[in-house]
This record gives sequence, C-alpha cells and structure tokens, in this order.
Amino acid sequence: MTPPAAVINDRGSARWRGGYPWVYRTELLGFEGAPPAPAQVVAVRDRRGRELGWADHSETSRIALRRLSGDAKETVDEEFFRRRLATAAAYREDLRLDSNAYRVVAGEADGLPGLIADRYGEDLVVQALTAAMDARLPRLAAALRTQLGAGRMFERNDVKVRRLEGLELRAGELAPDGKPLAADGSGAAAWAEARIGGLDFRFDLLGGQKTGGFLDQRENWSAVAAYAHPGCEALDAFCYQGGFALHLARRGARVEAADLSRPALQLAEANAQRNGLENIEFTEANAFDLLRHYDEIGRRFDLIVLDPPAFAKNRSALPAAARGYKEINLRALRLLRPGGILAACSCSHHVSADALLGWIAAAAADARREAVLLERRGQARDHPVLLAMPETEYLKCFLLRVR
Ligand code: SAH
Repeated sequence: MTPPAAVINDRGSARWRGGYPWVYRTELLGFEGAPPAPAQVVAVRDRRGRELGWADHSETSRIALRRLSGDAKETVDEEFFRRRLATAAAYREDLRLDSNAYRVVAGEADGLPGLIADRYGEDLVVQALTAAMDARLPRLAAALRTQLGAGRMFERNDVKVRRLEGLELRAGELAPDGKPLAADGSGAAAWAEARIGGLDFRFDLLGGQKTGGFLDQRENWSAVAAYAHPGCEALDAFCYQGGFALHLARRGARVEAADLSRPALQLAEANAQRNGLENIEFTEANAFDLLRHYDEIGRRFDLIVLDPPAFAKNRSALPAAARGYKEINLRALRLLRPGGILAACSCSHHVSADALLGWIAAAAADARREAVLLERRGQARDHPVLLAMPETEYLKCFLLRVR
C-alpha cells in the first residue's frame, strides 16, 4: 500500500530543505493518492514531484506537517522510532550531565515532533503534543522505558496545546506497556527523587508544574551560584521547588526564596531540609509586591534571581509582558548593592533575547544603574536548540553585574 503523499509549495519546500521541520497549512497544496488517515505517516513532495522525506500530518493544527525524516529512502517503522529514541538517549549520555534528572526527548529538536520525555531519577514522564505522537505514545513510552531501564512512567498529557490537535487532556501513571494504569490522576501527587549537582531534589511528577520541574534551568542553577560567596545575601523571587535557592545556599549565601505558590514553597523547604541547608528563608509572596516593598524600605541584596512564569503566552500579550519584565528588573537592579549580580530570565517563546535585553537596559537606565553583561545563557544542553528551528531556543538567562 503506497502511503499518501503531501505536496507542498515552493516556500514550504525551500524551508524544508533548509532544515525547518514544520510545513504550515498555507504551504500544503494537497495530497496525491487517498487522503491520509488520522495520524498516518505521509510522504512529502515538492511541486515537481521530488521526494523530500516523511512527516506526521495533522488535520486540525495550522502546522499541517511535521518532519519525521528528510530522507525519502528511509523507512518510517517501529525500528525507525526506536533508533530515534536511542539516538536521543545517547546524546544525553555524551553530555555527561551532573544530574539524573534531564530531558531525554525534546520533540522536534530530537527528530521526534511533539514528543517530550523527561527523566527524574528512576522515573519517566512523557508528553505527546500531536495526534500522531499521541497515537504511538504507548509504544514509544514502553520502548524508551526499556532502553533507559527506568521504573515508573507517567503521562503529563494535561497541556492545553493538545486541544489544537483535537486531543483530550489527561495525566496519570502508565503501565509498563505505556497504557494508562488508572483513571485520570492529574492533580494527585507522584513523588520522584533526583540528584542534581550534588543536591537531592524531590519532584511532584503529577501535581507539579511542567513535568514536575524546570529541568531547562538546571545548568543555570549552578552557573548563577558560582557568583555567590559565603554570607552574601541572595533573593530567588520565583523559586518554585528551590533550584536556584538551594544551589546558592550551598555556596554559603543567605537566601530568601519567594514564590506565590504555597505547594511550591513547601516542596522547596522540604528540599532544603533534605540537604541540610538552614540558610534559606521562605516567603509566600507576589514578587511584584515583594520587590516594591523592599525597594520602599531600602533592603539590599548581593544577588537576585528573576525567573518568572512566561508573561507573554502569545504575541498580543507582548506589550503587557514588556511592562512586567521591565518592572521586576528595574526593582531588582535598584535593590542590588554595587557589584551585585542579577540573573534575569524569560521562558516566553515570544520574547526574543534581544527584546529582553533591551527591556533590562531600559530598566537599568530608569534605575540609574550601570550594568555589564557577564553571561548570555539559555536552556540546559539536554534541551537542544535545533539550529534550523529558532523556536526551539526559548529560554533566556542573562547574568549581569551592577557597578
Ligand atoms: N526558578 C524556578 C522556576 C520558576 S517557574 C526553577 O528554576 O525551578 C515560575 C514560578 O513563579 C512558579 O513557581 C510560580 O508559582 C511562581 N509565580 C508565578 N507568579 C508569581 C508572582 N507574581 N510572584 C511570585 N511567584 C510567582
């Protein structure tokens, strides 16, 4: 049976040849042969009939095709996916990470569009963001579990983007065959333990944010902590379960860890205790209010970390996001002592590195502080940036020093 072939326009095929893995619906001219069944792999051709490779097709998303392979001679079968998983896992092995919690599969950046897999010590969390990946998720999850020798498996398929693919939202534990074990377990707690940079962390794989933690910040935790010295005063204003705060405290800093979420703070506190770190104070607060208050009373710090949630979830939210980023950075810059360090992060896809840096520069001017840029950092290396796909680079983390 010959698979259906999607024919794409010149713009789409030029981008495909340049390595971009998505073809938008506006670039799709039509299908040769029978239209594809839901989640069926399709061949991809240009207008002249030249074979471009293989893709997953979506009936509902404005991203019509997502590349599986740019090699038309390759066979996309079970073995193909097993190879892709093995390649992704081998890449993380090669990185010799100082952590047993990391992203094993990062979707498009690993040639597995729409598939996310995070490892937390013995446990594995998977996520399928497209209908095609969702259909093969049980098989891929089971194969990955065997490859990694992992224990329990969970799905965090409770992310809203799934709706664009007509998929339901669900979360819970998976059986070794990758099928859901029980009724929807979203919101329930599922504790995992991992060791990161010599510290022990607990993560809640079902009740926590993302797949349990912000593993993309992992390498920034230690990079920022390198600027801490014993007795210095540090503020981690959006601390979640304590990644930055614990790393800073281990270097001897006196840390205030703040977050709006009580469960996050409780977990951060428990993580501090597990590691015997007593030099962290925990504050349940809105960072905007806390920073303004400290500014008003003249409180000073030597190091401040700002890692807020994505203020810009879409383009139309950009002006409001700009005000938000500018406000917190302005306050933080004013709170820093001379020589103080600011770690300014953004995980918004829609906020470019240059835009963020521009807002920080404007904030510094308003705060009458001169700052130098020490490091331009991004997501941890186990969240690879696909050169041909700028969208895969989303996390910004600038380290600045105030003079
Ligand atoms: N720095 C963390 C990740 C932070 S994610 C890490 O590296 O792991 C963003 C955090 O900000 C979440 O924990 C969320 O609960 C918290 N948050 C959201 N809005 C907030 C606000 N206005 N003030 C303080 N915390 C907030």
